[in-house]
Parts: sequence; structure tokens; C-alpha cells
Amino acid sequence: MIYDIIIVGGGPAGMSSALYALRENKKVLIIEKESFGGQIATAPRLENFPSIEKISGLEFSDKLFEQINNLGVEFELDDVIGITKNNDKDFIVKTTNNVFNCHAVIIANGCHHKKINLPNEDKFIGSGISYCATCDGPFYKGEEVNIIGDANSAMQYALMLSSYCPKVTMYALFDHLFGDAILKQKVYSNPKIDIKYNMSLTSFEGDDTLTGLTFKNTKTNELVNVKTNNVFIAIGQQVDNNRFSNLVKLDNGYIVVDSNMETSTKGIFAAGDTIKKDIRQVINACSEGSLAAINAVKYLS
Ligand SMILES: Cc1cc2nc3c(=O)[nH]c(=O)nc-3n(C[C@H](O)[C@H](O)[C@H](O)COP(=O)(O)OP(=O)(O)OC[C@H]3O[C@@H](n4cnc5c(N)ncnc54)[C@H](O)[C@@H]3O)c2cc1C
Repeated sequence: MIYDIIIVGGGPAGMSSALYALRENKKVLIIEKESFGGQIATAPRLENFPSIEKISGLEFSDKLFEQINNLGVEFELDDVIGITKNNDKDFIVKTTNNVFNCHAVIIANGCHHKKINLPNEDKFIGSGISYCATCDGPFYKGEEVNIIGDANSAMQYALMLSSYCPKVTMYALFDHLFGDAILKQKVYSNPKIDIKYNMSLTSFEGDDTLTGLTFKNTKTNELVNVKTNNVFIAIGQQVDNNRFSNLVKLDNGYIVVDSNMETSTKGIFAAGDTIKKDIRQVINACSEGSLAAINAVKYLS
């Protein structure tokens, strides 16, 4: 069995690629390692996608999945661990459990949450440390909660948590917030959200579960201890593309593409948050996914 196109990742970019390729009657397989929807599935609200005033990230993902499912996409839940050339034209996509053949590949594996990389971080995941307020926020309903981060994701988390928590404290590394003006306005005007600036986390406290956080104030060098059973970390994303570096050129980990979304290897395309670019939003991921598919279809013919 040989697929026309194999898509790595079932986020907005991967599913948009599938949509365009399927409408050209291509045989398409999407391989997704966790769950379809990607990062946006964890977002409480998507409010900046044209024609949809407000939708939850999960509902948006479900609708996109339903659309490609109705068009006959094939899908596999597995982790893609590498891509090799089979011959001059075809590719072998290797997953943890299987091997698939195709004529073209679209890499749309997105990004994932960055860790702070301090002792106890892995140990306390699920025992006080969370990277997803949508998933874990409701566990702290009615409690005071903490967020480390200073940009869009952190602000979205703060706004969402403030709808059912009495106080949300954001710890920002610098002396200001980054990100969208409209989100900043909402955060600044929300009386439940307190922002502590110039705070650099130095340790996660606790034995078996999180019991506190220690920050260093980078202006005064003062150590600040916060007794708490929770922290939401929203400090950005990182990519995981070394597994593709045998075939695609990377820049600082991100995949380099041309204006056709083609990588340094003919027949391998990439789209979405995984590529080298400035703006990482759903609308861009979908647009790049469509471009990758259109150009992959051209390549096939
Ligand atoms: C909390 C939050 C809120 C956001 N809010 C907004 C918003 O309001 N508006 C907006 O426009 N954008 C928002 N974004 C950004 C938006 O979600 C991303 O830009 C978008 O999801 C990128 O889509 P993508 O398909 O490129 O990557 P992703 O969404 O990251 O999807 C990539 C998929 O690939 C899978 N994958 C990764 N590696 C492999 C592998 N080796 N094998 C198989 N599968 C793999 C992953 O599991 C994932 O499902 C938000 C992001 C977050 C985290």
C-alpha cells in the first residue's frame, strides 16, 4: 500500500492539508501521536478565526476532524520517529509501531509546551504543575491559582481561570507583558488578576506534591516564597524536528520552507507552527496547510 500523501500531525495545519488533498482525490494518511486538534484543542476560546465569532478550541478541532473524516481521510495514532527516502520518488515514514510508504509528505507536527527545566518539574506534573489550564484549571475551582508566563497563552489562561477562581497571580519574567493588545487590556482590567513582574522561578517546593514556588526578583535579588498547591506554566513552545534533520533543513529547530511550503527535499512539505516564521496562529497554520497540500498535489502530478 502506498499513500499519495502522508501528513505528520493532526493539528489545524495537518487537518487543513488533509482537507485540500482529499478534495483532489488523493489517498491521504494522517499520523497523530496524541489526539487530533493539536494545541488549539486545549484553548478555552478561539475568537480570531474569520467567520467564527467564538468557539472553543475543542469544538473547532472536532469540526475540522469531522470534515476530513467525511472526505475519507485515513488516520493512525502513532508517533512518527523518522522519514527516509525509499527511492528517487517515494518516502518511508517510520512510526514507533509501523512503517508507511508514500509519494509526498507534509510535516505539520507543531510545537509543544516549553518546560522551565528545574528539579521536581517532571515529578510534580499532575501533582500541582500543569501546562494546560483548560485541562486542569477546573480542579482548582474556587482556589487561588498561579501562572508563570507573560504572553498570549499565559493571558488566555489567566482570563479563563479568573472566571471560576477568586484570584489569579501571573508571574512575569520582565517588567511588562508581551502579546495581543486586546488580551492585555482584558487582563489589566480584570480585578481578579494580579501581575508580579521581574519574577524568575528558582525552585518548585515540595516532597511528593507541589507545596510552593520560590522566585527571585530580578530587580532586587529578593527571594519570594509562595505557598501554593498549583502552578500553570505558559512560557512558550518548542519544536521537535531533529528526527527529520536527515532530509529537511532546520533553523534553530524550526523547518525551513520556501513560499510553496516545500522543504529542502523535493516532495517533503511542512506547515504550521513547526516552520520557521514569526506568527503562530490557527489561521496561519490552516493557510500554510492548504498551501502545502496544493503544492504537494502539484508535485505528485
Ligand atoms: C493555550 C493556547 C491558546 C491558543 N489560542 C489561540 C487563539 O486564540 N487563536 C489562534 O489563532 N491561535 C491560538 N493558539 C495557537 C494555535 O493553537 C497554534 O498556532 C496552532 O494550533 C498550530 O497548529 P499546528 O497544526 O501547526 O500545530 P499543533 O496545533 O501543535 O498540532 C501539531 C500536532 O502534531 C502532533 N505531533 C507532533 N509530533 C508528532 C509526531 N512525531 N508524530 C505524530 N504526530 C505528532 C501533535 O500531537 C499535535 O496534535 C493557542 C495555543 C495555545 C497553546
